[in-house]
Amino acid sequence: MYEVQEKWEESYFSAGDSRRVKYVSELIANDVSSILDVGCGNGILVNYLDKQFPDRFSRICGTDRSETSLKFVHTEKVCASIDQLPFKDGEFDLVTCLEVIEHLPQEIYFSALAELKRIASQYIIISVPNEEDLVLNRVTCPKCYTAFSPFYHMRSFSIDTLSNCLQPEFESVHIESIEKITVPRFPRIKQKISRFLHPEVYPPNCICPMCGHHEFDKLKKSVSSHSEITSEEPVISGLSRFWPHTKKSKWIVGLFKRK
Ligand SMILES: [Zn+2]
Repeated sequence: MYEVQEKWEESYFSAGDSRRVKYVSELIANDVSSILDVGCGNGILVNYLDKQFPDRFSRICGTDRSETSLKFVHTEKVCASIDQLPFKDGEFDLVTCLEVIEHLPQEIYFSALAELKRIASQYIIISVPNEEDLVLNRVTCPKCYTAFSPFYHMRSFSIDTLSNCLQPEFESVHIESIEKITVPRFPRIKQKISRFLHPEVYPPNCICPMCGHHEFDKLKKSVSSHSEITSEEPVISGLSRFWPHTKKSKWIVGLFKRK
């Protein structure tokens, strides 16, 4: 599912993703010369750094396990799995890992974090979704009835859990939730009512991890971003209009330094 070209095209990423990348770039310390982005995807960070700061860094490298995504990366790039990275201990001043560790299955979660710590000589920057409700966000495959996260997220993070995830070698020196978005209050109740009024819509840009079912033919170019994964039926959008809302930060970004 990570080899689907559409998932890596620039139009799949939102303006919010670009703001997140800019925010991350502002956390990079002046003494950083070499950067490895682990799980670089289509190069959203490394391409940005290469373009914005052509003379600042001695080396910018992206690594991802998806060969399809690496076609979009313009810097040095390596195809590898996060739990077995072909780099030396301390080879890069900074290792970044953005919107990746929430995808990792339990079997490789700790070995992946150990790889980030092994390769980073000084700093690590990690970003994850902020306090995601994985139960709320599940979708059900209409073919095999498997319930899964449409973004293939396996775990949810708070500021507290993220700030301790690289102990004992690295400590968090700056951790912040960013990108305020409007979300419904009592979202699970709203979802129950929505499902009662209108059956669940299978997002057209995801693939069932169990049977491979997808509905890409329904994917419209103009609404192919993360945030607009389903188009609302009129009756649901009526419900959304009067339902109480609140503000929530979409992501948490943490800067960690070797002790
Ligand atoms: Zn299925």
